[in-house]
Amino acid sequence: MLKWSKVQLLLVLGCFLMDFSHAQVTFFFPIDTPLVLSGTFGELRSNHYHSGLDFKTDGKEGRTVKAAAAGWVSRIKMSAVGFGNVIYLDHPSGHTTVYAHLHHFHPELMKYMDSAQYAAESFEMELFPDSGRFSFSPGDGIGVSGNTGGSQGPHLHFEIRDRLTQVPQNPLLFLPPLMDSIAPMAGVITLFKKDPNFSFFTLLDSSSEINHLFHINEDTVYVSLYTDDPSGENKLGIYSIQLLQDDSIIFSYQYNQFSFDETRFVNAHSHPTGVKGKDGWAHQLFKLPGDRFSLYADAGFGKMVLPKSDTTNLEID
Ligand SMILES: [Zn+2]
Repeated sequence: MLKWSKVQLLLVLGCFLMDFSHAQVTFFFPIDTPLVLSGTFGELRSNHYHSGLDFKTDGKEGRTVKAAAAGWVSRIKMSAVGFGNVIYLDHPSGHTTVYAHLHHFHPELMKYMDSAQYAAESFEMELFPDSGRFSFSPGDGIGVSGNTGGSQGPHLHFEIRDRLTQVPQNPLLFLPPLMDSIAPMAGVITLFKKDPNFSFFTLLDSSSEINHLFHINEDTVYVSLYTDDPSGENKLGIYSIQLLQDDSIIFSYQYNQFSFDETRFVNAHSHPTGVKGKDGWAHQLFKLPGDRFSLYADAGFGKMVLPKSDTTNLEID
């Protein structure tokens, strides 16, 4: 006889960008208002997690880019690919800030770059000036925003890294609070079952309702979540996710930092929604066997054992 379990799904999605317990070090925004983000830290991209914030620049190039804190230029690069024209500032706090896709640099930096390019007869150039050579105070203009390198349109890509390890940190932990009072909406919730002998997962059912009752004839299920952020036309990333089964956390993570070595595990963390009109990548709220991404809290790794003929409450915060 088949025993059907029910999964009562309740979504409590918090407001995006609101609940950051700020670290002691505070940086300033690298551009002036209006501050509109088109990309957040940890956002799912093809083959990598986004390692910084993307600030919109009104669809134009030419906005002044400012030092986010007192520091010195530790690295500067001009390239037709990747970050394009990019400045790295080191700070006494033990951080490095990165300003990418610039149109051009501060005149002094331009002069320094020009003479190196002229001497080497090369456009592609990466320089590591001495720490005393180019110092800036917080808010000083260091360059002008652009659309250089692998950029899809004018914007500023900004990162905060640990200076020693160059591991990117979530910049929103160090910047003044950015207000966004609209919580992300659940786009699609999908339930999967796992083949007991292999690591592949088969789709069981999906829903785009906030509160949904699934009827599932399985012992164990796994969940994925695709979200829409209604606050802008850009579907931004999520800072943290908690999956609870009857009030116990069975999967969670917070995007505070990750290293470039593990950014490829995004491929083990996400899958295309496969739903028309909801194009994008869904977050798997379970861990695949080979996924060694360090941000998952060890709390069951998303395995949800269903009770026989009873309802279990699933909540995603
Ligand atoms: Zn970016």
